[in-house]
Amino acid sequence: MANQIHDVLIIGAGVTGTLIARELSKYQLDVVIVDKSNDAGNQTSSANSAIIHSGYDPEPGTLKAKFNVLGNAMYPQLVEDLDVPFINCGSLTIAIEDEQLETLKQLAERSKINGVEVKLLNKEAVLKMEPNINPLVKGALYAPTAGIIDPFNLVVHAMENAIDNGVTFLRSHEVININKNKDLYIVKTNKGELMAKVVINAAGVKADKIASMVESIDWAITPRKGEYYLLDHYAPGLVNSTIFPLPSKKGKGVLVSLTTAGNYIVGPSSELSDPDDVSTDTLTLNNIKQAATLMVPSIPFKETIRVFSGLRATCTRHDFIIEYAKSDNHFINVAGIESPGLASSPAIAEYVVNELVKPLMQLKKNEKFNPCVKKYHRMFYLSEEEKLEVIKKDADYGMMICNCEHISLGEIKDALSRSCPPVSIKGVKRRTRAGFGKCQGGFCQPKVLMLLAEHYGVSPTKIPLNDDGSYIIDHEIKEAK
Ligand SMILES: Cc1cc2nc3c(=O)[nH]c(=O)nc-3n(C[C@H](O)[C@H](O)[C@H](O)COP(=O)(O)OP(=O)(O)OC[C@H]3O[C@@H](n4cnc5c(N)ncnc54)[C@H](O)[C@@H]3O)c2cc1C
Repeated sequence: MANQIHDVLIIGAGVTGTLIARELSKYQLDVVIVDKSNDAGNQTSSANSAIIHSGYDPEPGTLKAKFNVLGNAMYPQLVEDLDVPFINCGSLTIAIEDEQLETLKQLAERSKINGVEVKLLNKEAVLKMEPNINPLVKGALYAPTAGIIDPFNLVVHAMENAIDNGVTFLRSHEVININKNKDLYIVKTNKGELMAKVVINAAGVKADKIASMVESIDWAITPRKGEYYLLDHYAPGLVNSTIFPLPSKKGKGVLVSLTTAGNYIVGPSSELSDPDDVSTDTLTLNNIKQAATLMVPSIPFKETIRVFSGLRATCTRHDFIIEYAKSDNHFINVAGIESPGLASSPAIAEYVVNELVKPLMQLKKNEKFNPCVKKYHRMFYLSEEEKLEVIKKDADYGMMICNCEHISLGEIKDALSRSCPPVSIKGVKRRTRAGFGKCQGGFCQPKVLMLLAEHYGVSPTKIPLNDDGSYIIDHEIKEAK
């Protein structure tokens, strides 16, 4: 690998980087993607609201508006190809006070300019759709093209598909410096140097740090933290679509939404933050509770199974940055990808490849490109008959590892056999949902740990909870093997 010259090197395996890698794998190119983490999608792409926004909200004319609308339209095919749970549940942006009805009308106008289908609903129509909304509601803007997705599967399956089509994924490779020697970039990582003709910077909240390794920049990332409650899926029927308040300067506000697995998500907050701080705090969580219950008064917060936070790559330019570096068109910045980054990412990937990479090099089609991953069996979503059918073919699918989420040994073994396998307990969780339930891994975590140790042929003390070094067993004792 040391002397190999890659055509394209992507820094960052979040949703942006992995979908760009997949898009590049449609061509005969040597593509490598590196991440400082030991897995794909370990940062912001795994800690967000998971909404495929319709595109009614971004300011017309911005890159956010353009790519959100294009990306939203690409999702139905993408989730089919990558086998990712997705529900086109629509969204409701609600007005609780009379004065807010005017803002709803303005948002409807903005939607028209952005090319997004919406409908203004009166109080009765809103309450008919969502009976648990605050009865004081005055009206809402309904966006039928909004949806919810499993963001963990999205990134991992995009990575898997890119690898299946020839891309190399280097985990635990932190980029620490970048130099240029004639026509080649020398990218220094903690694991050695890599050489590439083109470099794409998709490093999320660290994208300004990476861009500054190449030239001085006139923008910066000022991360904003968003905290959440995640509720169990034993509270059915609370809301059917994603419920938003009116947007403000700070963002789309605290939402209440179903997740693809039937949980509820409530949040996020929005405060300036350190780029590595993903803590949560009681004051912020209480504020979220207050804002959310104003929209949906009966949220059963006692069903909370987890609180967490994610970091927005908010940029001082207040829009996505998707362009060549000022000093060299062979270095491409894909930065400031805050919300609606998840919704926009398939369209961003297409744009980066067609409009920014294509002019730099001859792109010959990869005739062997296969857009699909091998289908996954998810016991949680299957009917009893379907489950029996799967178990008949492979008894491992009948052996439950995670009883809360009904995740079988077969599903974990399948994840381990793929081209982008998990290497940590959370890696298994993100792929299969083992540990996502009420006990939060209390019962299945030791079993998952042992399965990983057995699969990789290492001691359980060498299996991390999440990123490198986050071991949960300190040492073996004499009796335990
Ligand atoms: C609270 C919150 C709510 C959101 N809700 C939504 C939503 O509902 N819908 C929506 O469309 N969008 C939403 N977003 C935005 C969306 O999550 C992001 O736009 C998207 O995940 C960004 O992906 P990314 O790949 O650019 O960044 P990331 O996922 O952060 O990936 C960047 C990667 O770069 C790696 N990296 C960084 N530095 C280095 C280095 N030096 N060397 C190697 N690798 C490095 C990191 O490890 C990371 O894996 C939300 C974001 C937040 C925080």
